[in-house]
This record gives sequence, C-alpha cells and structure tokens, in this order.
Amino acid sequence: MQRPDQDPKSHIADLAAFIEGSPSPFHAAAMASERLDRIGFIEIEESTAWPPQPGRYFLRRGGALVAWSTADGADPHAGFRIIGAHTDSPNLRLRPRPDHRSAGMAQLGVEIYGGVLLNSWLDRDLGLSGRVTLIGDGGQTENRLLHVNEPRLRVPQLAIHLDRSVTTDGLRLDPQRHLQPVWSSAQGEVPLFNEWLAQQFEVSSSAIGAWDLMAHDLTPPTRIGVDGSMFASGRLDNLLSCHAGLVALENSCADGFTSVPVLCLFDHEEVGSETASGAAGQLLPATLERICIASGLNRDEWFASLAASICVSADGAHATHPNWPERHEPDHLVLLDGGPVVKWNANARYGTDAPGAAHILALAEQLEIPMQAFVSRNDLPCGSTIGPITAAQLGITTIDIGVAQLSMHSARELTGVVDPARFATLLAAFLNCPTVLGER
Ligand code: ZN
Repeated sequence: MQRPDQDPKSHIADLAAFIEGSPSPFHAAAMASERLDRIGFIEIEESTAWPPQPGRYFLRRGGALVAWSTADGADPHAGFRIIGAHTDSPNLRLRPRPDHRSAGMAQLGVEIYGGVLLNSWLDRDLGLSGRVTLIGDGGQTENRLLHVNEPRLRVPQLAIHLDRSVTTDGLRLDPQRHLQPVWSSAQGEVPLFNEWLAQQFEVSSSAIGAWDLMAHDLTPPTRIGVDGSMFASGRLDNLLSCHAGLVALENSCADGFTSVPVLCLFDHEEVGSETASGAAGQLLPATLERICIASGLNRDEWFASLAASICVSADGAHATHPNWPERHEPDHLVLLDGGPVVKWNANARYGTDAPGAAHILALAEQLEIPMQAFVSRNDLPCGSTIGPITAAQLGITTIDIGVAQLSMHSARELTGVVDPARFATLLAAFLNCPTVLGER
C-alpha cells in the first residue's frame, strides 16, 4: 500500500487546534463542517428533497454530523465504509435556572453530564460554550453558538484543614452540592445569567429563548514529558477519534473509493445514545437509506448494500495505568503509542468480532502499523461505546478501535503523540480499501 503516513507532529498540532475550537459538540460539528466545506463537501438539509447523487455531502443534526461521498468512484451497491465517533464528552452543563447564591457568592447551577471524573473539575478556570436559541420579535427562533474562552467559572475545593478525612478516606464529592461553580464574589451587583448571556449576543434578555451550555477547562492542549512524547488535553474522548475520522476522509478522497465512505459523528454517547442525534436513533440508518434512494437503489438493493458494509466504531481505549496495573488484564498490556487498539468483549459491550477484526488487522499489517488488543478483567465491568449499537441498528460488521489513553473522562486526559496519526492513516486506508468481507 502506497499511502504516505500521516505525520505525527503536524497531526498533533492539527488535533490540538480542532479540540480548542470544539469546546462543545455543536462546535465540533461546526469545525468538521468548515473543513469538509473546504474540500468540496456540500451541506444539505434533512428537511428538503436530496439532490441526485453522485456528490460529496454532509448534514448536521444538533451536535452530530454525517458526511459521505458518492463521488470519487464510490458506488452504494458496493456498500458503505462507515467511521463512527462521538462529539460529546462528560462535563458540567448549565441548568435552565442557573442563578444561585450561597455564603454571599453568586453561583451558576450545573447538572453533571455523563460519567464525569468529578475531582478533575475542581480548581480549574472554566469557560462557557454551547448553543443558545434566540427568539425574534415574530416568535421565530435562531440557533447561535457561544464560545467564551475566558475564565468565568470555577469549582473551588474545600481546604484540607476543613476536612482532614480526605487523606484517610479519600475525596467524597456530592454531585448535587459540591460541583456548583462560583460566578462572582460581588454583593448585589452581579447580572442575572440571562442578562449576561444577552450581552454576549448584543440582544435584549427577552430574546434569550433557551440554551444547551456547558463548562470547559481553559488549559490549552499541550505536549508533555521530558521528550514531549505525551499529549495532554480535555475531550480526547472522543474528539481525538472525530478528528482522526475527519482527517481520514480528507486524505482518502483523492485516492478514490469503491464503497461509499461515511463519517458519522454522533452526539450523546456519554449518556446512552438514545437521542435524535445519538447512535441509537435513526440518524445513521435514515441517512444511509436516503443516500441509496438518491442514488436510485430500490429497497432490496438498500438491504444488500447494508450487508456489504463495514463500520469502524472509533473511540478511546484504556492504556494500562502505571499506578494501577492490577486494574488491567495482565496478558493484554496496552501502551500509549503502542498502536491503535482493537477492543474486545465476550459479552458484546464492544462490536468487534473475528471477521471484522481480521479485516482491520490485515489492513494494519500492509501499512506496517502496530496494533494492540484491549479486553477487560473478568472482575471489573467493561465500558461500552457506539459500536454494538450501530451493529444492532444496521446489522453490519462493526469493529471497535481506538487510541490508548489514560485518565478517560477526566477534564484533562492523556495520550501519546504518535498513535493519533497512525489511527488517521489506518482509517483512511479503511475508507479506500476495495476488499470485501468474505463470510460473516
Ligand atoms: Zn468515548
């Protein structure tokens, strides 16, 4: 295979910029759409009849995005090559009535979104981002993105002098009481949140309809370690995979396709995926079916196309932790930069099966990309991802793969600097690969 490797150094710099521009799922979808636009992908609306294929297209639904090409030689009769990932990360999300006062301080009330490592959000300078829906004079609504990259919020820790048990019993955080950020120490002069938000958009506060807003850590992504061999950032789970999939689609177009390449960036994976823009909804099945309809396939041909399809569910994998090696399966050491990780689970918490895994492993071997395998211990529960959901929804072979990382679901996670580029190279080859799966 002739594919030039994605350069790790420039890939990490590009990933850092993508993450910094994507503090919320809505921004991740917007970042992806801007890049797709630059290489000739056209955004289409779900609410209108679709243009006849072939072409390069994408659509957005909230914090989700689906992009595909029926151009560049791609034929829906040959099935789909799907990369699935998710745009959301565990975080703190603003309540509908956030204004709160305690001990003389103004605070903003938050809900916990997903499986947050709560301690990781303490004592961090936090910005605010997400989507705000404005209401016009005639009652019409308009969605606007908000990205305030200034330190506006902070969740202060309790001093050790006030809870000595923290050293003996560990830190215990009550999600209702202990994660509420402070907003101001001023007495009386603080604008209500609604008013502050109106100022950001230069509208009257009556124009603020509702919001989907969240906090983000302001520490920029950076390379760390004596040799710069690690990469620390928020939202690596799963913007690293969204970015790798995006780069793969960008890089594979020039080489031409056999099957239809599809990049599907879902929202709401961290809360179970059962939403309109999540993997358990009809976003992907409906999009694939409409691609087939717009390409002139009949319903039987659409099912045949699905049967010829393969999906890579791209999401973070746990590296073996140097301080807690006993939490990992001892015969399945997973290293930072040891290569992309195929994730297995006998109880189908991951979608990987032998024919699918073998297909990817063969591809990696041709590219001389090392691969690793993750499996949980039998005495610890296994995480999950969009893989099994996509496999069940569409009935297609799905392989769960990701880049190894530490501190998953922390406000600041850690990965290696080489594997993100390797993953993008592997995914690009997957999109171009003309080999069909044999017997399933
Ligand atoms: Zn994830």
